[in-house]
Amino acid sequence: MNILTELAQIGNRLDPKGAISFPIYHSSTFAHPGFGESTGFDYSRTNNPTRQVLEDAIARLEEGTKGFAFSSGMGAITTILTLFSHGDHIIVTEDLYGGTYRILEEVFNRFGLQVSFADTSNLEAIEKEILPHTKAIFTETPTNPMMKIADLHGIARLCQKHGLLDIVDNTFLTPYLQKPLLCGADIVVHSGTKYLGGHNDIISGLVVVKGEKLATRFGRLQNSLGATLGPQDSWLMIRGLKTLALRMKAQEENALQIAQWLLNHPKVTEVYYPGLKNHPSHATQLNQAKGFGAMLSFRVKDSSLIPRILKSLEIISYAESLGGVESLITYPATQTHADIPLEVRARLGIDDCLLRLSVGIEAAEDLIRDLESALR
Ligand SMILES: *Cc1c(COP(=O)(O)O)cnc(C)c1O
Repeated sequence: MNILTELAQIGNRLDPKGAISFPIYHSSTFAHPGFGESTGFDYSRTNNPTRQVLEDAIARLEEGTKGFAFSSGMGAITTILTLFSHGDHIIVTEDLYGGTYRILEEVFNRFGLQVSFADTSNLEAIEKEILPHTKAIFTETPTNPMMKIADLHGIARLCQKHGLLDIVDNTFLTPYLQKPLLCGADIVVHSGTKYLGGHNDIISGLVVVKGEKLATRFGRLQNSLGATLGPQDSWLMIRGLKTLALRMKAQEENALQIAQWLLNHPKVTEVYYPGLKNHPSHATQLNQAKGFGAMLSFRVKDSSLIPRILKSLEIISYAESLGGVESLITYPATQTHADIPLEVRARLGIDDCLLRLSVGIEAAEDLIRDLESALR
């Protein structure tokens, strides 16, 4: 089935009373029909009918075995990290979501999980970090905020060769544009807060795993840790997902126009967007995804311009987060990536001239006019 149809129909034809919009089951617990019997639902941390519609939908969209919904992207990532034990080692993309960096360096390190950060756009750099006790590669692509692209097929081959779990954070592109499980990954994770929810109104996380064995093991962790998504927010996610394709397409078209416009602006020294032909991984991206998404970063000539730009934008909001219908601009150095040490940020290029833009569904001409007057 075409993904447009798949998305629009999420939750339809499942309700015995014929509701087109699947109902919100606000119940913490479910009665058993008789001794030793179950309707399939016992207690809402374990499973809830509304959440299950969402979990089944994301599993179908990512073409995996089973989906899991969490109260945040970090709740999802935390649960994934509990697959590992004291003394295990994992390799993680070096310029990654700041919260993922923080949980590894401040929390899981205390439980003995060892981490190496690598430039995952370079297969040799990844392979160099593999140790006898390495258990997984955790990849973000495109990276945040430098928009580097990892070769997902190449990483899957590395994981197969060394017996590693292949985990991909697919938040920036969504299954509308990229399906990591089809490139060989074992686990896909999303901050559902971003494109999947799409309206800057919910915090959520989603995971899809491949294979029954991993699905069972991961389901037990989801239930044990308990960072599950409530029925109301599950319903909002379902509602958001129905328009994912339309939003993504509009946002991507806007992003390309804005990237090209920024490229020619005299106060902009660099534009990072995989949809630009001069992006070093433009071809890799075309080989593994249907598009480039709507996240871009750019560098201005002088950091003294930043306060004025952020203050004078009238449509694009100066706010953390991304992926929603409203355009947002972020200053990674003090916002999303503040927890990454200064010297690491400097090496990665996350300096005080860098801005990150999440392009929304507004008219591109209005967004460009907004940027134009802020940069004047
Ligand atoms: C936002 C984000 C997360 C964390 O998700 P929350 O929903 O904010 O907990 C993880 N990975 C990426 C790439 C993100 O953008």
